Amino acid sequence: MRTLVLNAGYEPLAVVSFRRALVLVMTQKATVLAADAEHPVVSTGFAYDRPSVIVLTRYVKIPHSRSVPVSRRGVLRRDAHRCAYCGATASTIDHVQPRSRGGADSWENLVACCLRCNNVKSDRTPAEMGWSLRWQPKAPHGVGWVVRGVERPQEEWDAFLAAA
Ligand SMILES: [Zn+2]
Repeated sequence: MRTLVLNAGYEPLAVVSFRRALVLVMTQKATVLAADAEHPVVSTGFAYDRPSVIVLTRYVKIPHSRSVPVSRRGVLRRDAHRCAYCGATASTIDHVQPRSRGGADSWENLVACCLRCNNVKSDRTPAEMGWSLRWQPKAPHGVGWVVRGVERPQEEWDAFLAAA
């Protein structure tokens, strides 16, 4: 179970383990906004509601350049689950410059891709295939991306993520 952390201004900031969240709450650095009372955390003889959303008591400044970790899920979301080569529904991701030829696991080198294009392209570059990218892949920005990039976002978070 993970906890969504909101900045003092209620904007999504990060996702942490519920243990980390409990420490923030117990040290008065955060207060609980939503909790899962059905699955309490038992620690040192006490039972605590498992926090699903907490808000920091003091505002934390976020550097503008904070980068979003690259993930398969994130690439698919950024490209709206469309293949960067043919526009079909994408279910996988492709290294534009193949990994076997020095291509990086980066936002700029990864695109959403359909299985067909992925198989046909294999270890070749788009230039070798005579293909062009339908858009230039770029790294996304913003805290909403950081939070949504996690593997299993929770339902209780939706209301707090709407504005991000
Ligand atoms: Zn395709």
